[in-house]
Amino acid sequence: MVFETKTLEAKARQLLGDRGVSVVDIAELVIFLQKEYIPELTLETCVDSVNAVLTKREVHNTILTGIQLDILAEEDKLLQPLQSIVEGDEGLYGIDEVLALSIVNVYGSIGFTNYGYIDKVKPGILQRLNEKGGPRVHTFLDDIVGAIAAAAASRLAHSYSSEI
Ligand SMILES: [Mg+2]
Repeated sequence: MVFETKTLEAKARQLLGDRGVSVVDIAELVIFLQKEYIPELTLETCVDSVNAVLTKREVHNTILTGIQLDILAEEDKLLQPLQSIVEGDEGLYGIDEVLALSIVNVYGSIGFTNYGYIDKVKPGILQRLNEKGGPRVHTFLDDIVGAIAAAAASRLAHSYSSEI
């Protein structure tokens, strides 16, 4: 059975919202990544770019899969040792980053640089998602949010360079 893209997008957006991430939160990360290169960039333009990324099926599939794993880990429903690895956001796991790469790929290779950078610096919402100790697990979500921002920033970089 193949679901309509619209159905997947609605569910992906709902899940992001349920997990405390808004489009504006992600757009603020895009500003952070691009303000040095596009000084006239507005939050509104970044919101539009994030919304464009959120129409892509690869992005929906990644959001649905990653957030599902975070939720299962919160509910203690994964098999061991994966349960402890995901719940504890173990540094050597790496599959959360690999899964999110499917989003970064959508707008070409500039996305990789942005993704790596934002994962190191962890500005804005990423810092909040990385705070440990609460009942929530965001092992997959933080990389997904960073990847959406990186893809949206790459999309802008491409569109601005074609204007010059
Ligand atoms: Mg992670």
